[in-house]
Amino acid sequence: MKNIRNKQAQEKDEFPVGKKGFAVCSGCDAVYHKKSWHHEEKFADKIEGIRKEAGSVICPACEREKNDLCEGFVVLIDIPEEKMQEVFNLIQNVGEKAIKNDILSRITKMEERDGDIYICTTENQLAVSLGKQIQKAFKGEVDTNWSGRDGIARVTWRYPAPKHGK
Ligand SMILES: [Zn+2]
Repeated sequence: MKNIRNKQAQEKDEFPVGKKGFAVCSGCDAVYHKKSWHHEEKFADKIEGIRKEAGSVICPACEREKNDLCEGFVVLIDIPEEKMQEVFNLIQNVGEKAIKNDILSRITKMEERDGDIYICTTENQLAVSLGKQIQKAFKGEVDTNWSGRDGIARVTWRYPAPKHGK
């Protein structure tokens, strides 16, 4: 399956497109056109027609989400309870901007456990950017690890400990 897809990608469209050269993701309504994915608003007037003729396709971001594959992991550690909402809001903002810029760039998972937040992203760059923006807002140290050749980014950030004497 993978080989066939890769071979096709070099020559022509990676996804089965309809007569007019469009496809729609059945998961998120992203529109595939000219070898890239777009927000459906751009094609709002065409979308029903596209859906009818192009059949069911799934975009790479939905595919990753479905298979629980992350290209970026972010772990935020030791967040004080009173800061949790603020941190969540920032993550949400970053996530909304990311998908607006690139429909395939998404936060697919966000989980809080005992004051730590675990985040999964479809693009490694989004994980890196999330780490940077968290650090900018709350200080502390960000540690980014690239694991081998697979391009997976693991970003760790710890809420800065209060200075002594305060
Ligand atoms: Zn999708």
